[in-house]
Amino acid sequence: MSDLAAPYRRTGRLDGACLCGGTRIRVDGDYVAAVGVCHCRKCRVWSGTITGYFLAKPEAVHVEGPTKTYASTPFASRTFCEVCGTNLWLRNNKDDAEYELMPALFPAADSFPVISEIYCDRAPAYGQLKGDHKRATQAQYEANNPFVEGDTP
Ligand SMILES: [Zn+2]
Ligand SMILES: [Zn+2]
Repeated sequence: MSDLAAPYRRTGRLDGACLCGGTRIRVDGDYVAAVGVCHCRKCRVWSGTITGYFLAKPEAVHVEGPTKTYASTPFASRTFCEVCGTNLWLRNNKDDAEYELMPALFPAADSFPVISEIYCDRAPAYGQLKGDHKRATQAQYEANNPFVEGDTP
């Protein structure tokens, strides 16, 4: 969603925390004040419901607390709080990859709009989103992204 994200690029500070409060995330730097929703199987099973993320530059993200990381594919991993299980972020395994942070951890992100929805043809009945944001089906998304999460177990 990089092109779509351009108008929503911001520089500033956001504070977030997991459910138990043991893991704290401070974004201090460049981030995107908008959410991209993904309905792929991995994202939905991981969160337990529909899932969206906002981007932040790696140098802007500061984390304190007991986290654990699960390699959900050979090229990306998902990190959660080891104590309470709150999902924290998804990230590609590249040093310069942006964090894809879970917006609900950050009160300030409550105002972020949805700007993209991928795997929209896989959205469950309980996750139908309104609005005229950009949508891509599984086939459309995977055609444009050679390394994707995929929608197979
Ligand atoms: Zn926690
Ligand atoms: Zn996904």
